Amino acid sequence: MVPGPKFHTARGEGRVRGKVSSTQIKMSYSLSFLQEDIAQMKVEGRFIELKVLESAQEPVSIVNGKKVINLTSNNYLALTTHPKLKKAAIQAIKDYGVGTAAVRTIIGTMDIHQELEQRLARFKGTEAALVIQSGFATNVAVCQSLMNSDQDFLISDELNHASIVDGSRLAKAQRKIYPHKDMKSLQAILESSESRNARRRMVVTDGVFSMDGDIAPLPEIVDLCDRYEAILMVDDAHSSGVLGRNGKGTVDHFNLKGKVPIQIGTLSKAMGAIGGYVASTQSMRDYLISTARPFLFSSSHPPSVVATCIAALDVLENEPQRIKKLWENAQFFKEGLKKLGFDTGMSETPITPIIVGDTAKAKKFSDGLFQEGVFALAIGFPTVAKGKERLRTIVTAGHTLKNLETALEKFKKVGKGLGII
Ligand SMILES: *Cc1c(COP(=O)(O)O)cnc(C)c1O
Repeated sequence: MVPGPKFHTARGEGRVRGKVSSTQIKMSYSLSFLQEDIAQMKVEGRFIELKVLESAQEPVSIVNGKKVINLTSNNYLALTTHPKLKKAAIQAIKDYGVGTAAVRTIIGTMDIHQELEQRLARFKGTEAALVIQSGFATNVAVCQSLMNSDQDFLISDELNHASIVDGSRLAKAQRKIYPHKDMKSLQAILESSESRNARRRMVVTDGVFSMDGDIAPLPEIVDLCDRYEAILMVDDAHSSGVLGRNGKGTVDHFNLKGKVPIQIGTLSKAMGAIGGYVASTQSMRDYLISTARPFLFSSSHPPSVVATCIAALDVLENEPQRIKKLWENAQFFKEGLKKLGFDTGMSETPITPIIVGDTAKAKKFSDGLFQEGVFALAIGFPTVAKGKERLRTIVTAGHTLKNLETALEKFKKVGKGLGII
C-alpha cells in the first residue's frame, strides 16, 4: 500500500487519505526498468557517479570537497584560467551580450564567429574552417553530410571516438571497421571490389587516440588514400594544441600539409572553452553550412566562447613555452610510471594509460589514489576492451614538477598496496 503524499496544516503534519492518483502510479511503473538497469550497471561496474569540481579547472583542484592533484582533464595548456582568455570573454559579454538566441543560418552568425573561423583556417593552414557546437557534433555533422548514400563507404579505425561511431551510424553509407592502426586491413578494405564500386569512400581516424594516447600512422594512411582515391578525415581533438608547430596538430607534426582534405579539431580541450571545427576547403564550408544538421538546427556559440577561442589562438602563437612544458611534464611523468613498473601501453603523448586489466581493480586504484589526494580516472569495459581496463592520466603544462613527483609517490604507494606493481 502506497501512502498518500505528506501535507502540512496548522494542526501539523498528516497524509492524504487513500492512494496516490493512478497517473502517478502508472508513471512510476513505466519507469521501473531504470532501477533494474541501474542495478545491473552497478553489478558490472558501469554505473557512473558524477564527481563535482568545486574550483576552477586547474592542475590542483577541489573535487568532492577534497584538494587533489588533477590528472583527468584535457586542459593540456592550462588555458581554462588564462587571464587573457578570461579578459576576452568578459569584454565580449560587454560588447555583444551573453548569447546569440539563434542558429548560425538565421541570425546567429556574428562577425566574431567569422573572425574565429578565419583564424582557425590560418592556424590549420587550410582555405576555410567552420565552427560547430562541439567536437562531437562536428564529427556527426561531417560524417552524416558527406556520406549520405548507401553507395558510399565509411571506413573507420576500431578505436575511433564515440562521436565518429555515432556519425557513421547516422550516415547512410556502408560501414567498415579496421583493427586499430592495421594498415594491411585498411588496404584490404580499399582494395576489395565492393568498396571499389562505391560512389565515394572516406577513411576516418583519430589523430591521437583518446584512451591510449598513441598517434595514428598518418603518412601511411595518406599514401593509401592517395592510391585508392579515398577521402581522408582526421580528428585532431587530442592533438590540436599538443602536436605540431604551435600545436597545429598531426598533419603539421607529420609534415603532411595539403595532403589531408578534412581536419577536425575541438575547442573544448587544449583551447579551454567549447566547440568543434572542420578545417578544409571553402567549398566544404559552403556545403556544410547548407547541409550539416547539427549546424543547421542547433544555436550558435555565445560571444564569450568565441572570444575565448580567438584569445586561445593568440596564446598558442605567442606562448610556445606552454607546449614545451606540456611535453616535458608528459615525458617526466611517463618515465616515472615506467620506472615504477607500471604498464603504460602504447602511449606517445601526454595521455598516459596505466593498464590494470580488471574493472574492479582499476576502480579501487582510482579510489585509493583519490584518498591520497591524486585524481586519476578509472576506465573499464566496455569503454575499453576486456583485459585493457585502466587508469587514464593526462598531465598539463600547469602541473609543477613537485605535483608530478607527489603523484608518482602516491601511484607507487597505492599500486604496491593493490599488488599492481
Ligand atoms: C573529446 C573528443 C571529441 C569530442 O569533442 P567535444 O568538443 O568535447 O565534443 C571528439 N573526438 C575525439 C577524438 C575526442 O577525444
